[in-house]
Amino acid sequence: MSNRLAIYPGTFDPITLGHLDIIERSVSIFDEVVVAVGRNIGKQPLFSVEERIEMIIKTTAHLGNVRVTYFDGLIVDYARKLNAKAMIRGLRAMSDFEFEFQMALVNRTLHPELVQVFLMPHEAYTHLNSTIVREVSSFNGDISAFVTPYVAKVLHEKFHITDDE
Ligand code: ADP
Repeated sequence: MSNRLAIYPGTFDPITLGHLDIIERSVSIFDEVVVAVGRNIGKQPLFSVEERIEMIIKTTAHLGNVRVTYFDGLIVDYARKLNAKAMIRGLRAMSDFEFEFQMALVNRTLHPELVQVFLMPHEAYTHLNSTIVREVSSFNGDISAFVTPYVAKVLHEKFHITDDE
């Protein structure tokens, strides 16, 4: 029997409860989900690849069929290399749609066999993105509704380590 592998690419700077919601939905329909941390041209991330991977591993530790990796280059090429059947994307609101639609058509042209799956998170997370989390945390705001306690701690250390000393 073939192993149904899905790839979930993103920047995850850092992983939020919205991302986790999408991962939890994905693992219920695929045998294995590879969360792939990519570079985002035009975005200078707050966290290094290693830090982002570490946070994703800790956040998904309760799920048996999740692997966390890094990729460089085109996601479709990486999906081919992994022999992934599907690619997962999250759709928060209409605002995500236009960009995702455009990307999906490009990716379909580049890799027609890769099935692209769009999942909606719980309503509680539709407003959430990593940029908001970073901003709130940088002003020492409460981010406990947006990320796991571990990620909140890592963010706090990143922004406020000297405040606490
Ligand atoms: P981007 O790809 O814009 O850099 P991310 O790397 O943060 O964004 O997100 C990777 C994937 O996760 C994208 O498909 C994005 O739509 C989805 N995503 C991000 N935040 C949420 C959320 N709160 N709920 C559902 N999906 C989300």
